[in-house]
Amino acid sequence: MKICIWCRENEAKVTFTNEAHIFPQSLGGKRTCSSVCDKCNLFFGSKQNRLPSVELALKEPLNISRLFLLSQLKKSDKIPRYKSEYFDYNIKKQTIKPKFKYTLESKFQTDFTKQFKRGVYKIFLEERSESVGDALDNRFDFIREYARYGIGDYPVNYCKPSIPAIFVSTPDLDNPVIRFTNLSEEEMKQYGHYSYFFMTHTLAIPVIRMHELTFYNYEKYMLHNENKMYVELKPINFISDLDFIFSYALAD
Ligand SMILES: [Zn+2]
Repeated sequence: MKICIWCRENEAKVTFTNEAHIFPQSLGGKRTCSSVCDKCNLFFGSKQNRLPSVELALKEPLNISRLFLLSQLKKSDKIPRYKSEYFDYNIKKQTIKPKFKYTLESKFQTDFTKQFKRGVYKIFLEERSESVGDALDNRFDFIREYARYGIGDYPVNYCKPSIPAIFVSTPDLDNPVIRFTNLSEEEMKQYGHYSYFFMTHTLAIPVIRMHELTFYNYEKYMLHNENKMYVELKPINFISDLDFIFSYALAD
């Protein structure tokens, strides 16, 4: 019997009629999670009170990032337009800022960022369900609480690359996915974290509730391993902490 990975209700109580996309479709996401009930699926796509939906908060910055990338790569003569509800951006001038009416709302930045972070955890657990099948484990309860019910606050760390160049994999831009490998399983076991590469951003999230205990060792591992890929793990407190426009790679 099917059980929803978010509310833990089964088919006797909830329906599983609609497709739940792991990454939003507008980002090119094609994979779906079969264990998300219609009610929870609807929740992630709906505005709550005055907050943007989890899905919208996730796709706004990433869609804008994607346009910056496409323009840098000059992959297409015509950069597709993306109509952003929350941000004004200018690809040529490489600027992005919240729309004026939202800057007037106190807490806009923190509220928006919380929704974005919940989306990052949502993707983790849904892909976990599809490709590993252990999303219902109790150890992931904190992710259910946070992503689905807004309980607590957990970090999403932006991993700042050490090399001023953007490495783009085109399949990743067309169909973003996260993957679980032997290495990522080992890192989860040893350091209690998972790093997440998509749309050429690397984000790292804890996969255990008591994450403070493991962060120090994880950071050391990420910054000082032999690949030396990253120079900083920066917790995203404001959405601008995510380097939308890849400023580390821009020559000035
Ligand atoms: Zn559900």
